[in-house]
Amino acid sequence: MKLNKNPHRRLNALTGEWVLVSPHRTTRPWQGEVASQAKTSEPEYDPSCYLCPGNARAGGARNPAYQSTFVFENDFAALKPDVPAEQVDVEGKGLLVAGTEPGICRVMCFSPRHDLTLSTMPPEEIERVVKTWVEQYRELGTLEYIRHVQIFENRGAMMGASNPHPHCQIWATASIPEVPAKELLSQKTYLETHRRCLLCDYAELEVRQKVRIVFANEEFVVLVPFWAVWPFEVLLCSRRHVASMLELEGDEVRSLSQTLKQIASTYDRVFNAPFPYSMGFHQAATDKTDHLEWHFHAHFYPPLLRSATIRKFMVGFEMLGTPQRDITPEIAAERLRALASG
Ligand SMILES: [Zn+2]
Ligand SMILES: [Zn+2]
Ligand SMILES: [Zn+2]
Repeated sequence: MKLNKNPHRRLNALTGEWVLVSPHRTTRPWQGEVASQAKTSEPEYDPSCYLCPGNARAGGARNPAYQSTFVFENDFAALKPDVPAEQVDVEGKGLLVAGTEPGICRVMCFSPRHDLTLSTMPPEEIERVVKTWVEQYRELGTLEYIRHVQIFENRGAMMGASNPHPHCQIWATASIPEVPAKELLSQKTYLETHRRCLLCDYAELEVRQKVRIVFANEEFVVLVPFWAVWPFEVLLCSRRHVASMLELEGDEVRSLSQTLKQIASTYDRVFNAPFPYSMGFHQAATDKTDHLEWHFHAHFYPPLLRSATIRKFMVGFEMLGTPQRDITPEIAAERLRALASG
């Protein structure tokens, strides 16, 4: 792409937002300092961890001696199911608008083992994690007032994860949150305009273009999106048009587990250190209407830039203007691709 020599901006087709790319600021294809961080090894069981089996949590409850995955309501939940419906628009000018937001926040432990991560867990255990996600999405999404179920994992202290025990959070909300709402609109508009699914078309185009693919298998494609903001951001996309994990069948559940493990372990090889990230699945809204436009996918947003300790901050122009990146998504993909095969 000729553009790659000059500062340019790229459109995020999923959200309609733009990102500024400044490739001239990197003189060589890869000038990252590959610094290894001293690996701190975690114990299999930590008596002071509030997520380990049998331990007491800060709220007072005690975890059962769980053997596989374990889900519980967050003791300090950001949302509560039983808030009364209330909408305000003070003085009716649309300037002071608010509304109550009923919801449910759960925590899900991936494993009883304190020291494992998605990159080190055995694939069959990750498969159990995926199956629990399916159950949770189904159960919460069926609740009459729940319109969106967000499953996400924060990994590493840099991303604010307060506990290294492998776990994720599940927030179910009465409203469709900002990001999925934008993606919903873009996918809907694309379907109406082209009579085709946005992400089916996008994944197909990327597979043909090859330059941004990290790896792909029969069931999933993993790529650095054309519009990536974070240096090593990736998008995981199902090959088949499915709206959520509920529609995964046959080998797709196993394949998703392996694909997630491969992404996490590829990341760990970038700086030879556990790679922090926020990841999450974007599945069809659970607002009890059909979502023919929605294509199941996951985003991984790692903050690291040039080493295991130097992170990207969204400040200055990015905070006031638009996000910006130096290394192009193509160069990031090339780097990840080389590490993906192990
Ligand atoms: Zn633990
Ligand atoms: Zn699709
Ligand atoms: Zn998304």
